[in-house]
Amino acid sequence: MTSSTGFKSKSVAIVGAGPAGCMCAYFASQNAQVTLFDFSKPLQTLLYTGGGRCNLAHAEYDFKELAKFYPRGEKFLYSVFSRFSTCDTIEFFNSIGVNTYVQEDLRIFPISNSAEDVRRKFLGELSHCAFKKEKVLVVEKLENNFRLKTEKNDYYFDEVVIATGGHAGFLLAENLGHKIIKPKPALTGLITAENFKVLQGVSLKNVLAEVLFENTLVAKIQDDILFTHNGVSGPLTYQISSLCARLDYSDRNPILIKLDFVKKEIDLQSMFNLNPKKDIKNLLVGFVPKSLAEYILKLNRVNSEQKCCDINGQTRDLILKSLLEFKITAISTTKEGEVVTSGGVCLDEIDSKTMQSKLVESLYFCGEVIDVDGFCGGFNLQNCWSTGFVSGNA
Ligand SMILES: Cc1cc2nc3c(=O)[nH]c(=O)nc-3n(C[C@H](O)[C@H](O)[C@H](O)COP(=O)(O)OP(=O)(O)OC[C@H]3O[C@@H](n4cnc5c(N)ncnc54)[C@H](O)[C@@H]3O)c2cc1C
Repeated sequence: MTSSTGFKSKSVAIVGAGPAGCMCAYFASQNAQVTLFDFSKPLQTLLYTGGGRCNLAHAEYDFKELAKFYPRGEKFLYSVFSRFSTCDTIEFFNSIGVNTYVQEDLRIFPISNSAEDVRRKFLGELSHCAFKKEKVLVVEKLENNFRLKTEKNDYYFDEVVIATGGHAGFLLAENLGHKIIKPKPALTGLITAENFKVLQGVSLKNVLAEVLFENTLVAKIQDDILFTHNGVSGPLTYQISSLCARLDYSDRNPILIKLDFVKKEIDLQSMFNLNPKKDIKNLLVGFVPKSLAEYILKLNRVNSEQKCCDINGQTRDLILKSLLEFKITAISTTKEGEVVTSGGVCLDEIDSKTMQSKLVESLYFCGEVIDVDGFCGGFNLQNCWSTGFVSGNA
């Protein structure tokens, strides 16, 4: 297309109309003819975020500090976040009529608390972009442009952005010569060797966890945990699954998690001495929920109605160990959680200043398709907004 000034605006295809692709489209369409391809509805994936409330960012305003919340991609994101960070995200959403607020835990949400509202307003800003509900099967680099083959047609574009997310579309990049870091699930629940069925639904706030793999300390972190029918879930577990995403763990070689429910030194014997006639179970409920207290006592073969004065030193130490170093053996991930993909297009092959491929000129990437993933709390969408902005602007 040629403008009245004789400037030929470029044609850009964006494969994937998720958060990253749409952000890229918003900025790219200021200077180019943009066509979005998606086999599903545009911004459909946004609807499930933040439990339908859309946790669209996190209130960390220093871009280097923000990058620390990404187990994969921290250094790469410095340059991306220096161009578009949390404040820019808030400003962008304000500009399209989505006002935001910061929750107590620093997660940022739209005031409407509605992902549907964010989606509607965002798509309203993209009405000038062409949208094709087609699956892109192949992206081929020709001498001066690209050929996109979908299940229905062949199309030709000057530039292509791959924004296919973490669940499909790696093949498009791989066929163009890019290395794919093997995708693994992160931010999931964990299946444990222990049977926690009796504890299903029990949640604890701010538990301290020491995470070990092959006798090496992986991390020491603190957050909330939830016991499930087949293991553990909740924010602490999501973090652990993220930090361990690249480890090859299984029932033969599990992750060892030691939970500290107390987080301070306690003198259990003095407590026994002060409460000699108290049932041990009633003493433990000062530290953990009743069902967990009963579980711990059963684990250590102690009758839950035993009086504190009847508990010997050896049993006391076992109970104390369960409170301070409660052992969990994680053998695999579950399918529930925020579920992002750790892995994707290798960052060494992408220029972080433009999100352009270092291997194929005029080819760009943004969002979860690249080898970047963050913790829970708005970080994964922030990656989409920031890399979407940088690629769209470039
Ligand atoms: C349940 C859940 C809750 C979440 N909540 C949050 C949250 O609150 N905050 C947060 O920061 N993150 C959250 N995330 C993570 C976040 O949703 C993702 O990181 C984000 O959606 C990734 O965006 P994307 O645009 O890169 O990819 P996607 O959202 O996966 O979009 C990619 C699009 O590309 C399309 N596509 C793929 N291949 C092709 C092809 N060959 N041809 C045409 N189209 C194609 C797909 O249909 C899709 O629409 C959550 C994830 C889940 C699963």
